[in-house]
Formats: sequence, C-alpha cells, structure tokens
Amino acid sequence: MLLDNHGRTINYLRLGVTDRCNLRCFYCMPEKGIDWLSRKELMSYAELMRVCSLLVKTGIEKIRITGGEPFVRTDIMQFLTALSKLNGVKELAVTTNGVLTAPHIPELKSLGIRNINLSLDTVDRDRFLAITHRDELPAVLDTLEQLLLHNMDVKLNAVVMEGKNLQDIIPLVALTKDMPISVRFIEEMPFNGDGSHYPVLHWDHIKILQTIKKTYPAIQKVADPAYSTSYNYHIPGHKGNVGIIAAYTRSFCGTCNRIRITPQGTLKTCLYDDGVLNIRDMIREGHDDQYLQHSLLNAINKRAKDGWEAEKNRKEKNPVHESMATIGG
Ligand code: SAM
Ligand code: SF4
Repeated sequence: MLLDNHGRTINYLRLGVTDRCNLRCFYCMPEKGIDWLSRKELMSYAELMRVCSLLVKTGIEKIRITGGEPFVRTDIMQFLTALSKLNGVKELAVTTNGVLTAPHIPELKSLGIRNINLSLDTVDRDRFLAITHRDELPAVLDTLEQLLLHNMDVKLNAVVMEGKNLQDIIPLVALTKDMPISVRFIEEMPFNGDGSHYPVLHWDHIKILQTIKKTYPAIQKVADPAYSTSYNYHIPGHKGNVGIIAAYTRSFCGTCNRIRITPQGTLKTCLYDDGVLNIRDMIREGHDDQYLQHSLLNAINKRAKDGWEAEKNRKEKNPVHESMATIGG
C-alpha cells in the first residue's frame, strides 16, 4: 500500500493523455489563441505505459484517463486496450465530454471500462453553445443514452456558474428521477487558462445544496464512498443520486488518494500545485525504472497537506490560471 507523508493512501492516478479538445468550455480554456502542446511535448503512448506500469507496481490501483478530450487523441482505443491488460489495474475509468464517445462505448465495455464521467453543464442547446462555444449538445445526449443502454456506470459532471447555467441545476437533478446516474455539481475552480482569476466563489457547495433543497426538500444525505470527493444525496423515489463536489472549498483533502500526470508528463500530487517533477523529461534523459520509481515515491512523500498549502507552495507566484485541459480535472 502506498502512503503519503500525511498517512493518506495513494491508489488513484488521473492521467491526462492530451491537452487538445473539441469544445472550448469557457471555464476551462479560452475560445481562441490556445498554445497546444506539440507532439514532441506530449508523452508518447510508450512513455505513458511505462509510467503507469511503474505506478501500478507502487500501489496505484485505479487509473482515470482524462485530458483535454481523450477521444481526440489518435489511437486512444489502442492505448486503452493495452492499459486494460496491465497487471494490477483494478479499475480503468474515463472522463469525457461525450462529443465523440458514443461509437466507442461497446469497445470500452468489452475492455472492462464501465466507469464513465460525462461532462454536461446544461440541458439547453443554446446555453451549451454559449458555455462550450460548440453546438454539440445532441452528440453528448446521444452518448448519455448509449451509456445507459450499455449499463455503464455514469457520473454526470456539471460546473455551477453564476450567470451561465443556474437554471440547469434543477433540470439536471431531475435526470436522476429515471436515470440510474449520479449527477454531480462542481464548484467552479480558477483553472480557465486565460489568467483571469475571480476573487470570490459565487456558488459553493452549501449554496448549491440549498438551491436543490428548495425544489426537493425530501433530499437525503447518503453515505459517501471511501475517498469520495463529493457529498452524496438521494431523492426518495429517484433511480439516481446527486453529488456536490467542493472543488474550490477543498473540504476533501484529508482523504485525498489521487495523483495526476499531465499530458506533458508533469506529476502533480495536488490539483492546486504547479507540478512537482517532470517524469517525461526523466524518461527522456534515460533514467532506469528504479530511479524513476524512487523519484515518484520521493515526490509523493512530500505532498502538501491540502490544496491551500499546495497553492501557497507554487513556484510560480501568479494566481492559479492554467487551463484545466492541461491538468485533467
Ligand atoms: N474533456 C473531458 C471532459 O470535459 O469531461 C475531460 C477533461 S475536463 C478538464 C475534466 C473535468 O474538469 C470536466 O468535468 C470539467 O467540467 C472539469 N473542469 C474543467 N475546468 C473546470 C473549472 N474551471 N472548474 C471546475 N471544473 C472544471
Ligand atoms: Fe474540453 Fe473538457 Fe475543458 Fe470542456 S472541460 S474545454 S470538454 S477539456
């Protein structure tokens, strides 16, 4: 079992396979003028497999593929196939915006990948266009329908944004009536990629819950699974659940079991740090597995105690501003 310097189990890797995306969610990246990583800067699939294999030997049991949008990377299904065969991976999961996902669902299922997080901030086509700058709601809804038809384990993620999708909170909760999904509302974080930093969080987890309670006063708290980042609720008579993720408030750091590797090979031991080592560079410098493993363990042994400390320790003293697509969420 892998423990960090605060005694927290580390068994979950979030792996960013690309920074590129076919949407432009305004809270994640600017609409224009994005400096994409070059192919050389991106970790190759061979490098990604090597890092995953090392980390799995070290104690990682669950890997979530994220990005950018994973399905825009060429040959992603070949990579997922290889990863699904890696000894020691107990759970492989994917986070996707759902635009290109539907045709891959049967193959994902055949690889044993059942846990899919689908991002959907609104059920309204015009608001979807306003938020993502692309008219792709029908494709995302098709993915949702196909995921349910294939009995996949679906979590629907919605960022709650003042002036953008507040009218969607209740319709999104209403989806849990007939769909066995978990609809999770996420506090907006400052990772929007354009350097603008809002000083105040408008919609925290408490306000989101109060809003839901006005329409669904019978909503009940249910037990949160181990290492859960969400507060979980159930509305009597509904098939699905509701979750609220205090991503900005950072109330879940005490049980945080995850590390991240970005598409350019940066290891992040906290969402809010600005990278603690670059594993891609170490691989390309020719270091052996033992050295790489030692470096990874060393970094995990110096983890910040929470997201506030990680943010304070950033080497770049600018406020947090990088795009979430370069982190993976
Ligand atoms: N493209 C895929 C998707 O959208 O699902 C995977 C990558 S995306 C960066 C992962 C998650 O991060 C999404 O659920 C997205 O809503 C969330 N996210 C992006 N920027 C965010 C922000 N500024 N605050 C909160 N969540 C954010
Ligand atoms: Fe793309 Fe996901 Fe970022 Fe939206 S949140 S721009 S879908 S990476």
